[in-house]
Order: sequence, then structure tokens, then C-alpha cells
Amino acid sequence: MDSSSLVSRKKSIRIVPSKALRDGQSTTMYDSIVVGLGGMGSAAAAHLAQRGRRVVGFEQFAAVHDRGSSHGKTRIIRQAYYEDPAYVPLLLRAYELWHELEQRVGQTLYVRTGGLMVGLPSSSIVAGSERSAREHDLGYEVLDANDIKRRFPAMRPRPEEVGVFEVPAGMLYPERCVRAHLDWAAGAGADLRFNTPVVEWGVSKGAAFVKTAAGDVVEADSIVLCQGAWLRHASGAYALPVRAERNVMHWFEPHAPHAGELQALPIYIVDRAGNPPLYGFPYIPGEGIKAAFHHSGVYTTPEELQRTVDSVEIERARSALHEWLPDASGPHVASAVCMYEMTPDEHFLVGRQPDAPNVIIAGGFSGHGFKFCSVMGEILADLVMQGKSKHPIGLFDPWRFGK
Ligand SMILES: Cc1cc2nc3c(=O)[nH]c(=O)nc-3n(C[C@H](O)[C@H](O)[C@H](O)COP(=O)(O)OP(=O)(O)OC[C@H]3O[C@@H](n4cnc5c(N)ncnc54)[C@H](O)[C@@H]3O)c2cc1C
Repeated sequence: MDSSSLVSRKKSIRIVPSKALRDGQSTTMYDSIVVGLGGMGSAAAAHLAQRGRRVVGFEQFAAVHDRGSSHGKTRIIRQAYYEDPAYVPLLLRAYELWHELEQRVGQTLYVRTGGLMVGLPSSSIVAGSERSAREHDLGYEVLDANDIKRRFPAMRPRPEEVGVFEVPAGMLYPERCVRAHLDWAAGAGADLRFNTPVVEWGVSKGAAFVKTAAGDVVEADSIVLCQGAWLRHASGAYALPVRAERNVMHWFEPHAPHAGELQALPIYIVDRAGNPPLYGFPYIPGEGIKAAFHHSGVYTTPEELQRTVDSVEIERARSALHEWLPDASGPHVASAVCMYEMTPDEHFLVGRQPDAPNVIIAGGFSGHGFKFCSVMGEILADLVMQGKSKHPIGLFDPWRFGK
């Protein structure tokens, strides 16, 4: 789908006015369309509406659903970012904005637990965390295996392992975060349409339109594509290199006498040969202790995603958890499937479409995007309204792999 075919196709489409137009409430177009109201789209809609844009948002499923990438009760947030120091300024702003959002909606969205990144000193998780912390002057400590055991007696580090500990790391509650952004957006006047898949979009001379599965066509000046694991199909001729990776989260009930100690755990990521990194959260009574592997290597599509979880997967996670936190690996409580939206280099895709600057892409968050939703809302509103953002997003050029 290149933009010229979109323009010509657009001519043959009957423009169906939005409900507001039909009702005679307004004779104007929307300013901005947001496609996808998950983690990123809900934040984009909120920031755009807050800045006075007339926003319409489309979501193919219900609000705060569990079929994309933004569900599963908890998400890690941390600052000493091993993936690249370039993320740190964005994280500092993300923390501020999560805090503002908490105040706006009067709810707890973030809980500080501290965070421990464990591996051999040379591992990318340990060395990368230290590098980011040093470059950005973040407070951190390097703990050897004995320090880790003293401070967190439930943990079983191997003698050669070390941990980088940071205080501000913690967890976000993703469903509450998405809901909070949606409520803020709606409160600021955004028209949010759920169970409304967009089947086509296009641009012509500064205008953009979408067509829904029901045949409605809605126009606006700009369009923001926040389609998570569905973005590949959405990007038409550009075929952005986003692949869905199936990843499973597991919850276990800890062995009873240790439940109290496990509630005080920091979030952690443990990098050991033989398995993908294992990450996890403190025990939350009533939910269990959540643990999962960061990456499965199983690529799929949103349509073909296997949503059932078999006992082999559960036992593999339990056995890795048992080695690291033996008190935690009690009865299995639940598992849930989620999609990472992978790019080849695991960095995000955020920016304007080269030949259609009123089309803004926000995707490819590669399994580590949730903590950034708050600041991405701000960045996407900047890109829509000013064409650029004051935040450093050079790493995320969507076209770095070619057009
Ligand atoms: C198991 C798991 C663990 C994770 N852990 C962490 C973590 O600890 N910390 C962290 O920071 N990140 C983590 N992530 C990554 C993070 O959650 C994602 O990067 C982030 O949620 C992506 O948000 P999104 O808005 O791009 O995608 P989504 O939230 O999936 O939103 C995309 C939305 O677009 C909608 N959509 C798509 N196509 C259409 C269409 N045609 N019409 C209408 N609607 C459409 C979809 O239905 C969906 O709601 C994890 C992800 C998973 C799966």
C-alpha cells in the first residue's frame, strides 16, 4: 500500500461522517487519529487530547484487553538500562510522567521495589547496567554473590555471579496504567472507539483517513499508528520489520513459610547460560509470584499465536525459578501468553513516515517498551504537533533498516 494508491483508493471511498458530525454537533474533522489503544496508543491519545487536539482513537478489541502486549498484572521499570545508555533520559522523564499520572487518577501505578541485574560481570545485563548508571551518574551498587545472599537470603546466586542493584527500579501495574491513560484521554475530550478494527488507512496532502471494519471512514490531519504486534501489516509498502515473539508469564504460589520474605524482593533479571534471562517480581498475595523468561525465540503472528500453555513450558520456568529462588517455586497458579513486538536490533521504531510526515509510527517495542508508555505519549504528541520532539529519539528511526 503506497501513498499514491491510498490517495486514489481514497477517492472511491464514501466519506461517512463521524457520530459527532452526523449528530450535527460539529462540522469539523478530527485533528488526530490514533490506531491501537494499548500501552502506547492510550498514552498518545491522552497527551494529544490534553494539548487540545480533537482526537479519535480506534481499538480492535475491548479496552484493556489481554490479546496484545500490555497485560499481565506487572511490568518492570528500571533506570540503569543495560540495553543502551541512550534510553536513560527517556526513563527519567517516564518516571516523572508516571508519577503525574498517578496523581491525576488518584491511583498507585508504580511500586518501588529496587532492582537487581544478575549475571557474570562480563554479561551484557551486568556490564550494560553499570555502563548506563556510570554514564548518567545514577546511584548503583555492585553486589558479589555473598552480598546478594546476605541482603536477599531467598536468592541463590552462583559464586561467580554479581548483581547490579538500583533503588528506583520497581513495578508498574500495566492494566491500571492503560486504563488511567484512557480515562485521562476521554476526560480531555478524546473520542475512543473500542471493538472497532481499522481495516485501511491512508494519507493525501496533509490529511489522513481510516476505514473501519464496519465501513465508517474518519478523517483527520494526522494519524498515529500504535498497533503493537500488528504494526507489520499496518505499515503497508514500508513493511516495518516487526515480528511477534510468543512469550509466557507464569505465577507460582511460594512455599508458605517464606511468603513474607518474598514480598520484599526487588525485581530481578538473572542471565545464566542455557536459558534466556529469567526475570521476576516480588510475591503479591492473592496473585502469586510472577516469573518468566525474557525471550522465547518462538516467532509467530498475532493471528497464529498459540495462547494455550503446556506443562513442559511451566516446568521449565519452575525449574529455572527453583534454582534462583527455591522458596518461590511452589504450586503453579496461572500462566498467560503475551507478544513481544521485535525489531532486528531490539530498539524501538518511533518517528514520522518520510514521504508523509503526518503519519507517525510508534512500534517495535521489542518486549521492553511498557515502562516508556508515559514518555512515549509525550513524544508522540510532540511529533504530531511540532514535527519533532525535544526528547532524544535518534536511536528509534523507523527507517534505519531501509524503506
Ligand atoms: C510477557 C511480556 C512481558 C513484558 N515485560 C515488560 C517489562 O517488564 N517492562 C517493560 O517495560 N516492557 C515489558 N514488555 C513489553 C511491553 O509490555 C510492550 O512493549 C508494550 O506493552 C507495547 O505497547 P503497544 O501499545 O505497542 O502494544 P499493545 O499494547 O499490544 O497495543 C497495540 C494495540 O493496537 C491494537 N490494534 C492493532 N491493530 C489494530 C487495528 N487494525 N485496528 C484497531 N486496533 C488495532 C491492538 O488490539 C492493541 O490493543 C513485556 C511484554 C510482554 C509480552
